[in-house]
Amino acid sequence: MRTPIVIANWKMNGGLAANANLVSGLKKQLVGQQATTIVICPPAPYLAQVEQLIESSNIQLGAQNASEYSVGAYTGEVSLKMLQEFGVQYVIIGHSERRVIFKETDQQVAEKCKAVVAGGLVPVICIGESLEERQQGNAQIVIKKQLQALSLEELRGSFIIAYEPIWAIGTGETASPEQAQEMHEFIRFQLRELLAERADSVKVLYGGSVKSDNAGQLFAMPDIDGGLVGGASLQAEEFFAICRAA
Ligand code: PEP
Repeated sequence: MRTPIVIANWKMNGGLAANANLVSGLKKQLVGQQATTIVICPPAPYLAQVEQLIESSNIQLGAQNASEYSVGAYTGEVSLKMLQEFGVQYVIIGHSERRVIFKETDQQVAEKCKAVVAGGLVPVICIGESLEERQQGNAQIVIKKQLQALSLEELRGSFIIAYEPIWAIGTGETASPEQAQEMHEFIRFQLRELLAERADSVKVLYGGSVKSDNAGQLFAMPDIDGGLVGGASLQAEEFFAICRAA
């Protein structure tokens, strides 16, 4: 039995006042709602603020990235130890925006996952195909390759997979529930090949233009264990409605 989880990826959005408004709006709605695990991943400078804002709520804290290195001359990077000091429990790794814009390689993504797990945190590992790859009929080949490159069998701790087709991220174009289920079923099959029965406890989330009006249908699919939500996580009511659908 995998408890559903919904993760808010604020990306590079927010500010002190906006964050306080958003979290307090969400906390008001969440009173008494406990079934789904809810995680907020703010930009790194706001981790301390959001750690305080979510105090005495069921909301947990996540980060959007972490360095694969532990300490030293890595200008601009944030280490696992630093994230731990702010109560971070989850770290998004390998988001397509990092892979495409910041040129993170499969190998670097794998190194980061290793570092996150070694630090006792849970990586939320993003995988997904581009529109071109899907149109060429290569979506499953790409996903299989991305999964294999992660060396998941070597990770000694829990992790989450987020299937995020690149063509659905921030575009308003969502994978249909059937398209998403087909890929999630494929991912679960691949996880079983790599991890045997350990695969059954791995949560596989869907991400890509999840909104309150499509969340219910997506989360009802048997192999979808929740969502990674970008744009729609920036409005308390909308995000709450998505969490309620999980
Ligand atoms: C994301 O950034 O992980 C994401 C899924 O974004 P959006 O919900 O805006 O498509």
